[in-house]
Amino acid sequence: MDNLQQLDFKLVESILQSNSIENLDMKEISNLFLNESSIFNFRPESIFQIDPRNGELIVYNSSRATRPSSGLDDKEQKQKAIENCPICQGKTTGIMDIIHLSEGFSFINKNMFPIFFPYETDPLNNLGTVSFGLHFLQWTSSFHNRDWHNIPAKDAIIVLSRLAALEKKLLLESFDNMPGSLSSSQDKPTYGYVSIIKNYGKAAGGSLAHGHQQIVSSNIMPKQFFNNWSFYERRGIHFTKYLLQENPEELIVKDYGKAVLVVPYFMRRPFDMFLIVKDTSKKFLHELDEEELETVAKAWQEATRVILLILKKIKKEEAYNIAVNNGPGAGLYIEFLPFTQLIGGYEKIGLWVCQESPFKAAETLRSFILELEPL
Ligand SMILES: [Zn+2]
Repeated sequence: MDNLQQLDFKLVESILQSNSIENLDMKEISNLFLNESSIFNFRPESIFQIDPRNGELIVYNSSRATRPSSGLDDKEQKQKAIENCPICQGKTTGIMDIIHLSEGFSFINKNMFPIFFPYETDPLNNLGTVSFGLHFLQWTSSFHNRDWHNIPAKDAIIVLSRLAALEKKLLLESFDNMPGSLSSSQDKPTYGYVSIIKNYGKAAGGSLAHGHQQIVSSNIMPKQFFNNWSFYERRGIHFTKYLLQENPEELIVKDYGKAVLVVPYFMRRPFDMFLIVKDTSKKFLHELDEEELETVAKAWQEATRVILLILKKIKKEEAYNIAVNNGPGAGLYIEFLPFTQLIGGYEKIGLWVCQESPFKAAETLRSFILELEPL
């Protein structure tokens, strides 16, 4: 039977700070983070280091080790964890954006264990090692067991448009909080970097089972954004344009018209997929037109549905990551990375040993995606 446990709308009132992110300016948003007492003891160290070998970034927050975890292994424990879900009980941070879905609602609030936090003192002396920003969570549905794979299509579009609205606010209005970013163009300056990811399942780093996306606005650029940018600088072509030209047709999982879901020819782990927006001049979610947004929402739903079906079939834990590549030079693409294989020592020296061929993976994914009923 479908578990209908959810966050009761009545419980929302006490933690509702704003109905819509659009009603707040960046100063107000920053202050809401600074004044959130539940975050006070879990603030990050606000310093970062760069691995000088490859430019990868490391940020520090030791309090994250104390995060509550609801992804327990034992069946009984799992049930208990659902009943004790802090989100369903409203034991969470102040809400800054809330929207009704066909049933229940979706909302955006602050991560209680942020990896970036607004800086209060002028970091003049150690600029270059100070990291700052804002760390949000978007809860896909107030229902505990609902997420992209099982919400109605029209609700997925609403969730994606709120994600796009937050991305827009952070990139375009952070002029007082963030340095200008490489994505800036003359007619449209952008500030800082907005990285959007999703961890689903304990093995993929999801500490809470209640479905959510993480959104970070930061002064520093994740290495992958930098890689996309370097690719553009080196080759003079957006990475998505390159992929659309070079990725073999046999690796297409599904062509959605405005976007295409593919297995990259350099697949690192079985069933990794990229969703590529075909208009390669688009680099942000908030630049998508209505039709593109609907397309991306639909493909996001189908990609996560096939991932869960395949993981079940190969008897692996339900776990995957999603990463939105919306940095400079990339175009716009979304990575879907099911947790199909562990990361071993060779992978840690940059030699990926993959247990499946991209062509076989694409074939399997195609057969599964064809079977999906509309949501
Ligand atoms: Zn819950």
